[in-house]
Amino acid sequence: MPDTQRDASATPQPIRRQDYRPPAFLVDTVELVFDLDPSATTVRARLALRRNRAHGDLAAPLRLDGEGLELLEIALDGVPLPPNRYRIGPDGALCIPNAPGICTLETRVRIAPDRNTELSGLYTSGGNFYTQCEAEGFRRITFFPDRPDVMARYTVTLIADRARWPVLLSNGNPEGSGAAQGGKHWVRWVDPHPKPSYLFALVAGDLVNVHDTFTTRSGRQVSLNIWVRRGDEPRCGHAMESLKRAMRWDEETFGLEYDLDVFNIAAVSDFNMGAMENKGLNIFNTKYVLASPETATDADWQGIETVVSHEYFHNWTGNRVTCRDWFQLSLKEGLTVFRDQEFSADQGSRAVKRIRDVRGLRAAQFPEDAGPMAHPVRPDSYIEIENFYTPTVYQKGAEVVRLIHTRIGAAAFRKGMDLYIARHDNQAVTIEEFVQAMQDASGEDLSAFMGWYSQAGTPEVTAEDAYDPAARRYTLTLRQRTPPTPGQPEKRPLPIPVAMGLLDPAGQALPTRLAGENEARAGTRMLLLDQAERRFVFEDVPAPPVPSLLRGFSAPVRLGGIPRERLRFLAVHDTDPFVRWDSHQQYATALVLDMVAAHRRGEPLGFDPALAEAVTTTLAGADDDPAFAAEVLALPSEGVIADQMEVADPEAIHLAREHLRREIGRRCADTLRAAYEALTDTGPYRIDGRGIGRRALRNACLGYLAAAGEEGVRLAKAQFDAQANMTDVLAALSLLADTDAPAREEALAAFHARWRGDELVLDKWFAIQAMSSRPDTVAAVRALYRHPDFDLRNPNRARALIGAFASGNPARFHDASGEGYRFLADAVIALDPINGATAARLVSPLGLWRRQAPERAALMRRELERILALPCLSRGTFEKVSKALA
Ligand code: ZN
Repeated sequence: MPDTQRDASATPQPIRRQDYRPPAFLVDTVELVFDLDPSATTVRARLALRRNRAHGDLAAPLRLDGEGLELLEIALDGVPLPPNRYRIGPDGALCIPNAPGICTLETRVRIAPDRNTELSGLYTSGGNFYTQCEAEGFRRITFFPDRPDVMARYTVTLIADRARWPVLLSNGNPEGSGAAQGGKHWVRWVDPHPKPSYLFALVAGDLVNVHDTFTTRSGRQVSLNIWVRRGDEPRCGHAMESLKRAMRWDEETFGLEYDLDVFNIAAVSDFNMGAMENKGLNIFNTKYVLASPETATDADWQGIETVVSHEYFHNWTGNRVTCRDWFQLSLKEGLTVFRDQEFSADQGSRAVKRIRDVRGLRAAQFPEDAGPMAHPVRPDSYIEIENFYTPTVYQKGAEVVRLIHTRIGAAAFRKGMDLYIARHDNQAVTIEEFVQAMQDASGEDLSAFMGWYSQAGTPEVTAEDAYDPAARRYTLTLRQRTPPTPGQPEKRPLPIPVAMGLLDPAGQALPTRLAGENEARAGTRMLLLDQAERRFVFEDVPAPPVPSLLRGFSAPVRLGGIPRERLRFLAVHDTDPFVRWDSHQQYATALVLDMVAAHRRGEPLGFDPALAEAVTTTLAGADDDPAFAAEVLALPSEGVIADQMEVADPEAIHLAREHLRREIGRRCADTLRAAYEALTDTGPYRIDGRGIGRRALRNACLGYLAAAGEEGVRLAKAQFDAQANMTDVLAALSLLADTDAPAREEALAAFHARWRGDELVLDKWFAIQAMSSRPDTVAAVRALYRHPDFDLRNPNRARALIGAFASGNPARFHDASGEGYRFLADAVIALDPINGATAARLVSPLGLWRRQAPERAALMRRELERILALPCLSRGTFEKVSKALA
């Protein structure tokens, strides 16, 4: 059938936000019947359709998306449709001209879940069935207007062999089950809430459940179940506890209750992302469900809490109120990330949580915002929507919600949420509607904040100040500038809330009074930098103060140009823990950049003893808050340092940063050793803020000691051998992986032998080697790619090797030979026909060639060109690579 084949040579065209048009038809109800079979599943669909006046053209044909569907039967209002009454287009969509204004369409299609390697739509994993429909996967299951502004009520009947797939799950509440012919059984699920197709889900498998219950504050009992493979039950406890805490928190914080009788989570090891918020049936990557102290690190533990709560919070922000179109993605994702950040902040240390979130934003979002894929939080166009599940839409989107929260305050924000949900329950809306609700509830004009949704790029903020002793007047001038991004050469100033305070020369916080105010205020105050430049005049200032700016990271900007002596001062004296931490980070960054410059001039790197002092001071006061101390001790990553340079120098950055680590390790050896020993827990292993903080701090000490040489490496080996918990084992193993010590091979082999049967732990084994700083890492990664345990088709495994190497190991990825680039391109080329979405994600680091020196940039471009020359690229990879070369 050549006329239904996609023309592979056609250049994919962008979809534009401006072109939005309401759907021609709406769907009131959907009845689906699945007869599940790995190689030939049939899907019967019955859609109650109704013409939508809002579309405008009342003669528009009925168009249903479809992709790779084999149509077996089709009937309109009970009458089989002859082939001349419909058409299946080259994109797979079904088009019926002259459909009545109200009609019922029945189709039956056949699909092959076991050949679905993209993991979008209905697929099999380990012999079981799972779905992933966001963003556009439902069209790979049945013909449907697969867009989020078509919300329908679903009734789903699943039929499958009872012995092989005893558990049959879908959205909503179970409403019947029974036996079917030939050893099969059926289960029916009814979801009372209208939903967009991207929230549809089914799971069929030989699974077992960990069960619990939750009583909502209005007294309804909810049955909670986590569905996993037999044997994984003991690893579900933390996910279940996180879920219950999230449910309670959303009631207490936002008055939002769960709205079905059951909440199911199913875990699957083949999954493109972290998890998916399907109504009443969340589907999770096993990585974000399964944890035990032996197998999961503290970071894994925290990841589970974050993702479980995130998906749960989507029930209201995303599911009950959903997006009009995919350009509005941050409406649900930015808001839901904000909510999960707040939840986690309330579970432990708010300051440490904020520091980690900002670290993540700087590591992933800042470079994106400065690269070829830079896009506004609400993009204007896309070729492949899967490419826009980005740090910008998620993390920067959450920062923008936070800006509004900061601006109007927690109480008004809560009112705004109430209003947003009351107005838009069961609707598909835009970001304007969210901001409008916040504006109406608070009475504040938030129109200028919309600029944060429409303008890409990270604003750069600088400060200049002057003190007039005679007038006791202090003037602070703040300026902003946003560099151009693709498609947006000119930038406008944005409203930037700058949380700040002043310190006197002794380090005491000063009350502040702006010119025109009657009284001085104690504590942090908010300045609004809403022009390219603004001057703030403070009266009654007794001595030249030190300004503390951007407390709590009050806006997602780059604050630069703070003199070093001020950074040192703030790192010690500021009242705001974020500024104290950040001043340390910026100070260390400045030192590394100095060393990079010295190295290029062929001069010795030197060492600033202030840094050793800071380590000693931090350790001396660490017992109050070990997690915070660990964050202070952790140097900025090589990637974050490179992001500070016009033209990066990965080799020199690595050299300088390692030099710094070694010098600290040597000069502070006694203190570090003492701290390491004092932090050795003799009591039971505890996964709480303090336990996690103590392990993080202890491993930070170990890291410096290992950088200094022999003794530290011996300690690391001993820690590895003790096998106390995965956090400590992995910290030790990653240090050993950087060395040439014989202990290295021994430890890696022991780890593999012990964990070869555990997918999630084996991922760590791959990732650690991929991130090794050894010069032979590229070759090692190539060898691991051919290892019998490597499986390109499993996204977790692909990311563990390819992603960890390309994104987590800049020094070796940017090997001057270009071998790192060549490896990434080879892997992307092999993966693209299997799983285009994952290939497109992995290719990103190659796109950042403009930040490298000419020789490297040329090598990177060559690999991008090699990829682009392929005849059948996925739309996603095509978009990434073509934009990188544009
Ligand atoms: Zn989400």
